[in-house]
Amino acid sequence: IVENCTCAFCGCNCDDLVYLVKGGEVKGELDGKLVTSGYVDGGHVVACRHACRLGASKVMEDMDQRLLVPMIRNDDGALVEVDWDTALDKAAELIAGAVRPVFYGWSETSIETMHYGLELGELVGAVLDNQATICHGPSLQAVQNAGYPVNTLGEVKNRADMIVYTGNNAMNSHPRHMARYAAFPRGYFRQRGRFDRTIVTMDPRYTDTAKMSDIWVGFEQNGDYEFYNAMRAVLRGKKLEKDVISGIPKEDIEELVEAMKGAQYGSLFFGLGLTHTLSKQRNIDIAINLIQDLNKYSKWNLIPMRGHFNVNGFNIFMAFEQGFPYGVDFARGYPRYMNGETNTIDLLTREEPDVFMVIAADPGAHFPSGANRHLSNIPVIQIDIHWGPSTELADIVLPGSFIGVEAAGTSYRMDGVPLYMKKAISRPETCRDDEWIVNELLKRVQKIKGIEPKV
Ligand code: SF4
Repeated sequence: IVENCTCAFCGCNCDDLVYLVKGGEVKGELDGKLVTSGYVDGGHVVACRHACRLGASKVMEDMDQRLLVPMIRNDDGALVEVDWDTALDKAAELIAGAVRPVFYGWSETSIETMHYGLELGELVGAVLDNQATICHGPSLQAVQNAGYPVNTLGEVKNRADMIVYTGNNAMNSHPRHMARYAAFPRGYFRQRGRFDRTIVTMDPRYTDTAKMSDIWVGFEQNGDYEFYNAMRAVLRGKKLEKDVISGIPKEDIEELVEAMKGAQYGSLFFGLGLTHTLSKQRNIDIAINLIQDLNKYSKWNLIPMRGHFNVNGFNIFMAFEQGFPYGVDFARGYPRYMNGETNTIDLLTREEPDVFMVIAADPGAHFPSGANRHLSNIPVIQIDIHWGPSTELADIVLPGSFIGVEAAGTSYRMDGVPLYMKKAISRPETCRDDEWIVNELLKRVQKIKGIEPKV
């Protein structure tokens, strides 16, 4: 049994998971239970306590497609097994010789790995970008425009008496969010848990999250901007001229605003319903402004429902190290950040990159076809643990390790709280840790360029 493991799936980063490991070496006994000293040699996670279905499936059942050996695509177009040195040398050669390399992904690996990735990116003048570019990038732009009235999930649990989910379906995307942080837990000032809170879902569809809520506001798709503007107008004492706004009667909007004003502590969680619909970051601008206006009457905060467990980590790491959160271009020898210019999809659709390294991401599955078309024309280096659509596009495959299960590392939760994810079992012998792989690429590229590696 390995306790206090952190789930490596969604931005909730649940850190209360208990793994039952079989086939490993048991290190000792505590309170009558067999325990390990944090990890065992080898073994498999056969049961996973506390995790939701998404987290558990990743830890326990997701191993059938496991990438186990380094591979290079041969002249016939087939991926064939090679040894680590051959694969790493070939990848380093491609990276060192690239004119416009892009290193994309990072959201499902550790901060420690990103550290080497950044050094490598600076060295070869790459663009470093993560999944924010197709996800909460508009939220990051909005934060730069309008501010970031954020709180932690602990504050939500202990204080919030009103929770708003807007443009996201937490019950499906972050299944323990309501149970662990927002709706159900008994908090210091919310001893009766769910009974002490009003839950509102604003979403065009009657989602599973809406079913769990007290109020469902089903405004029209792409009606976000108008809807939040109407709420702000009411909040500022204006009269609404239209009777129905984005499909919602104005009386309902007035009632909702009154309820939000009356909350003791409110928290708004927003998702891709805002970032992916018409007006994108402007939807979040206005949601942030709404939260700021509400603070004249009550205490309100907001948190973006970040997707991958460490997507926020890359943005925090890059902002801390380089001043910009994603889409950072080192082509000129210093960091540049220009949305629409230095983001992966824009670069790929303009057919600029000549080498693409994807780590802990699956553009093959999640990028628009125009972007993937260019990926099929240039060398792609993949560092990942699973065979996926990106493997079909890859020319070199480097099998990494599963952070939080086979390798330890740091991640940042959706609210920016850092967590150290422990190792529970050993990786397959033929795989390597992501951190080791990227560092090894760095050392080999330094050698090609005649640079003395730092000790
Ligand atoms: S809610 Fe997210 S972090 Fe928590 S167990 Fe489920 S997938 Fe993992």
